Amino acid sequence: MKCYLCGSKNYFNREGKVRDNPSIQILECEDCGLVFLDKQNTGDVFYEENNMLNENFFKFTKRDGESLEAKTREFYIHNALFVEKRFKLIKQLLVGKKLLDFGSGRAQFLLKAREIANEVAGVEIETRVQQFYEENNIPLFRSLDEIKESGGGGYDLITAFHVIEHLQDPITILKQLASLLKENGKMIIEVPNANDALLTIYKNKAFSEFTYWSPHLYLYNPHTLQKLGEKAGLKVDFVKCIQRYPLSNTLYWLSNGLPAGQKIWGGFLDSKVLQEAYESALASVGATDTLIAQFSKI
Ligand SMILES: [Zn+2]
Repeated sequence: MKCYLCGSKNYFNREGKVRDNPSIQILECEDCGLVFLDKQNTGDVFYEENNMLNENFFKFTKRDGESLEAKTREFYIHNALFVEKRFKLIKQLLVGKKLLDFGSGRAQFLLKAREIANEVAGVEIETRVQQFYEENNIPLFRSLDEIKESGGGGYDLITAFHVIEHLQDPITILKQLASLLKENGKMIIEVPNANDALLTIYKNKAFSEFTYWSPHLYLYNPHTLQKLGEKAGLKVDFVKCIQRYPLSNTLYWLSNGLPAGQKIWGGFLDSKVLQEAYESALASVGATDTLIAQFSKI
């Protein structure tokens, strides 16, 4: 087996388990630091049927709700906080622009972006999402080929939030996305950080047996995300470390070895000041939970 990014054959096993399939090994390239799984058992059919958000997912992530539908709803309510954070971060790039969101789910980001963008569209493979696009009159493509075939493209901005880590061949997909950009168009990519402090600094065992998940085929750190952009022939404007989960979440992991601590301790602990200070402390050592990169078409 060779490293997807640098071709090295030197890698070691990372501590931890893939929560939904403990037989899968978590490997880390010794030369570039890319983290990858030794088996890739998610293909297009998996995402078309949205097998990602299944009972197993909710059991591991401790979502409330009686039915699968109720839990899925809870997931999207929680996700709205992340959508809000992203929107604030890249707002200035969206004003009056033509946007494509790749892996757009139920169009949560597109609905926000539409308030200030000139034109928005989504690419989502999951079959069940159609109604959200029809109800809101947002164009939906099922694949990048479909955009090409319909003569589309010329986007000012393409976003992909927590999508790239699911792809078997992200370099090829990034190149295809770049071909849909205008000259000087930009791409915003958000992924989980392989250097999350809970793994690399606090070395929390419970978290290392929770966070790895079979659909996350590759995990990037600031260096490997930059390398990925370069390999796709893009100019890397920046890779920024951001923290999605608050300090209460971290402390709860350290104390109880369980997720969702912000729901229990967040009320008295979390504040804007604390979150900003915690985020910048983690960012100074590259150990936030999330990375956001901007790539430009050369
Ligand atoms: Zn490598």
